[in-house]
Amino acid sequence: MLEQLELLLELQKKDIDLADMLRQGELLPVRIDELESERERVRAAHQVKELALAEARKERQHEESELEDATVRINDLKAKQLLIKTNAEYAALTHEIAFAQQSISDLEDGILKLLEETEELAADLEQAGTDLAEVERGIDENVSELRARLDELNDKVVVKEDERQRIAMRVDAPLLRRYEGIFRSKGDCALACVENGACSGCYMSLPAQTIIEVKRTTGFKECDSCGRILYWRRETDGG
Ligand SMILES: [Zn+2]
Repeated sequence: MLEQLELLLELQKKDIDLADMLRQGELLPVRIDELESERERVRAAHQVKELALAEARKERQHEESELEDATVRINDLKAKQLLIKTNAEYAALTHEIAFAQQSISDLEDGILKLLEETEELAADLEQAGTDLAEVERGIDENVSELRARLDELNDKVVVKEDERQRIAMRVDAPLLRRYEGIFRSKGDCALACVENGACSGCYMSLPAQTIIEVKRTTGFKECDSCGRILYWRRETDGG
């Protein structure tokens, strides 16, 4: 009986460790996913800046070609003006030239503004590129560290499960089933010791008779309140 109890206590230690490892094993991939999404977010923000710069450059090229056209047009008009015979025609052309000149001046202003804008965007993009590289490097480091930890953890789980199995094999089958059922339903432990006359699992006071029976180790008595298997803590348990 005592040997079986000791085996169960050993088994419980392994099960508690395993539960803790499995919890960690669930958290690590979540953290990795978070870091991967952060990387995607920073990359997308960088791409938005790249597009803005490309757009501004395209617009500038468009305005520059408009300016070339307008310059050709005004030169044509000026050449025509030299050949004009009537005052009315001359006045009409003067008006057209003034109009073309205004549009040239507008285009020049626009191009200047776009030039400043593209310079700002280019500087901004360069900074964003440096930031992105840094963020990506940090995330890569973190992710590979987390993946290494996950691999290590998985290896440890395999070892721990093997150790657990060796102990479980030595526990009487019905007792093992009973223990496993309680452990599964409680989630933290299946064995509870008597502590100050109470169950250490649910903290409810235990009847004197129960305590006596547990102390004698005449059977595996369960706590009436929580159903955990009660045991008497001995000096050799180390606590
Ligand atoms: Zn209890």
